[in-house]
Amino acid sequence: MTLAQEFTSNAYETALSQYARAAQHLNDIDDNIIEFMRYPRREFTVNFPVRRDDGRVEMFTGYRVHHSTVLGPSKGGIRFDKHVSMDEVRALAMWMTWKCSLVGIPYGGAKGGVIVDPRSLSQPEHERLTRRYASELIPLISPHSDIPAPDMGTTPQHMAWIMDTYSMTVGYSVPAIVTGKPLVIGGSQGRTVSTGRGVVTVMMEALRRMGKLDAAKTRVAVQGFGNVGSNAASYAHDNGFKVVAVSDIHGGIHNTNGLDIPSVMEHVTITGSVINFPGADNITNGELLEVPCDVLLPCAMEGQITSDNADRVKARMVVEGANGPTTPEADDIMRGNGVLVVPDILANSGGVIVSYFEWVQDLQSFFWDETEIFRQLERIMIRAYDLTVRTAEEHNIDMRTAAQVAAIKRVADAMKTRGFYP
Ligand code: NAD
Repeated sequence: MTLAQEFTSNAYETALSQYARAAQHLNDIDDNIIEFMRYPRREFTVNFPVRRDDGRVEMFTGYRVHHSTVLGPSKGGIRFDKHVSMDEVRALAMWMTWKCSLVGIPYGGAKGGVIVDPRSLSQPEHERLTRRYASELIPLISPHSDIPAPDMGTTPQHMAWIMDTYSMTVGYSVPAIVTGKPLVIGGSQGRTVSTGRGVVTVMMEALRRMGKLDAAKTRVAVQGFGNVGSNAASYAHDNGFKVVAVSDIHGGIHNTNGLDIPSVMEHVTITGSVINFPGADNITNGELLEVPCDVLLPCAMEGQITSDNADRVKARMVVEGANGPTTPEADDIMRGNGVLVVPDILANSGGVIVSYFEWVQDLQSFFWDETEIFRQLERIMIRAYDLTVRTAEEHNIDMRTAAQVAAIKRVADAMKTRGFYP
């Protein structure tokens, strides 16, 4: 079986199909470089034991993929989920390369994951699994080669365990080994809220350019209420938008008059889910995507808007908080219906941008205040939005293809300048 035939997962198919689409508009780039960028640079699989609380030892499988190191060290989150696969990690690593390139930060793309249902582990089991996985990754990671961060199912506490495991191994404290850490060990102001805040920053920029930035009249629906979704809903609410529906893995809630997001967050803290929130109707995750609204923010996971439901999306704008929530077929359907899709590599780049700030602060041991972080975050996101729009106009293409064209071009230019080794 060839490498290309082996790549079969939906997320990876989506990533490769988007790449092929973008590459058609890059006629001036050498075919060898286009072919080179299709492949992950390195792929790492680890099988490792973890002692459960009842004394049993269970084997787990984890991955880490470096898609590219052309622009700098590779950067990307670590996902704990029962559906993690090598193909999913490959797709996410490739998207990280384009995301970092598009926003102009000096990183290549990586991603990691462990096949585990994070809800099935106790806190001590989480710690043992994370530390063992981190020690298995030691040959691959360092502040100058590959810097992990949180993703689905992992939190700042997981990053603290990775930072400690790495530091104990090398014999001194290395805060810059991971980003998304707690503040007390070298985390950055603003990192926790950065992805969700960035999603809404981009949403507002898109509305502003359409002459439709009127928060009180704009209804927003958010799928996923984890780090990205809850912070996006919260920042949208703080800016006066009417958040009419939110959801998590258990289902969603809907109120046409808007939800009080701080109260929804309290409800989640108490009950563990958004469902059964007083004064709202329970809906399914499928219904959430089809709810009457102006902007839809898919912030849960990949493959949510497909050819099966894209026609029923009522929003006029979709801003992708999650990575890969829309399949290429759904992209075409929504474009045909006049829905503006602001692509993931632009919309959710706030997380990696503030991760970059965290890494820079750690390397310099000099920390910035929140105002400075948010000012720089907004500056970089608006600049990337502008680059995407200019590329779309220049090539007469949609925003997703434009974002990828601009991102791929920057990596290709760097590769051309560096040359193929040896
Ligand atoms: P998280 O684990 O904090 O939250 C995920 C949320 O999605 C939870 O509310 C969960 O209940 C919900 N969910 C899970 N499966 C679902 C399903 N089948 N249907 C509906 N809801 C479901 O994860 P996160 O960090 O918020 O990441 C969400 C997405 O955003 C992922 O695609 C991730 O790759 C992407 N992303 C995250 C960051 C970041 O900084 N955390 C940055 C960029 C992109």
